[in-house]
Amino acid sequence: MTGRNLRVNGERLWNRLMEMAEIGATPKGGVCRLTLSDEDKRARDLFAEWCRAAGMTVEVDAMGNMFARRKGRRAGPAIMAGSHLDSQPTGGKFDGALGVLAALEAVETMNDAGIETDYPIEIVNWTNEEGARFAPAMVSSGVYAGAFSLDEAYGFTDKSGATLGQELERIGYKGALPVGGRDWKASFEVHIEQGPILEREGLPVGVVTGVQGIRWYDVIIKGDEVHAGPTPMDRRRDPVRGLHEVLAGCYKAAAEQGEWMRFTVGDLKAQPGSRNTVPGVVSFTVDLRHPQDEVLDGMEQAMREIARKAGDAHNLDITVERIWNSPPVAFDEACIASVETAAQTCGYATRKLFSGAGHDSVYVARVVPTSMIFVTSQNGISHNEAEYSSPEACKAGADVLLHALLDQAGIVGE
Ligand SMILES: [Zn+2]
Repeated sequence: MTGRNLRVNGERLWNRLMEMAEIGATPKGGVCRLTLSDEDKRARDLFAEWCRAAGMTVEVDAMGNMFARRKGRRAGPAIMAGSHLDSQPTGGKFDGALGVLAALEAVETMNDAGIETDYPIEIVNWTNEEGARFAPAMVSSGVYAGAFSLDEAYGFTDKSGATLGQELERIGYKGALPVGGRDWKASFEVHIEQGPILEREGLPVGVVTGVQGIRWYDVIIKGDEVHAGPTPMDRRRDPVRGLHEVLAGCYKAAAEQGEWMRFTVGDLKAQPGSRNTVPGVVSFTVDLRHPQDEVLDGMEQAMREIARKAGDAHNLDITVERIWNSPPVAFDEACIASVETAAQTCGYATRKLFSGAGHDSVYVARVVPTSMIFVTSQNGISHNEAEYSSPEACKAGADVLLHALLDQAGIVGE
């Protein structure tokens, strides 16, 4: 069988996904495998056992990140594929585990076909992607890329007061290797989409070209607290009048930015919050997301302008404060091309899309050329026990990963 016709064993992949999901299985069919818990340790042990049985060596770094390596003809650099085995408290079977096990399936398929690659393949299980037990999320890929220091990460504490460093030691996964600086040429991550786009368009897999930028704002509108009865309408400085105009203006501006703009007001408060008092202050949060910084800049400017006009029109003090900025990530052109070509080779219809959620690849992309492969999520549901991707969708993701890896690693003799 030549490289092009190679396909993964979908049944083996599915069986492993289901076996892995038994570790931390919840009554409603989901998974609770919090990072560095006893369940996480069992998942890690099982993953390591499967990798060794597939002829790989397994190493662990000081953040508990696991590296399973399949030799190439050259010593390095390796082509990396990874994701995470930890889950949300009421998570699903596929978020994270699919990316790790699809990579293992790609290696098993190469083994079965007797394929030798020019460059080695390395599978990574990143510690604490979810951030559900120890916030923030994507901690270990973050340490790997230099976003957090090792000591900072060891100090993150869970609700019971246990630190990440202590728990790494307790489950026996504080490894000897330094964190970061591995010799990698390219990196890929298969992940469920966690959104509805692929399913809506009837596509099994998507080519991920980047991750949306996220900006958070606090908007505060100040007027005067007065009695709802005696105070004539024209004598009020009513923040809700401003609110109404600011929100209408922002929704209109967001719609003008096209398909990828996300404008969310997730929390809204009136003070003092009494039905017969005109509130003195109304405040709300804004979560803004888009793949391009320029568009986010434009939307931010529009928000400030809308706020200024509403403030002037109704004699209100309106402030728009940006409190967090996570810039957009653009994945590597060559890695994106490898994924696109791989999908074509396998005959899967696909489209390009951005990730609306964070992934380890966000940090990995800072230090290694990276792309991702998305797999259809039923109803776009994730971080939920009902999360589901079909065996066909999971196989498609692994097939595309296999060919992206072969494209980057090169088949000896072809
Ligand atoms: Zn995930």
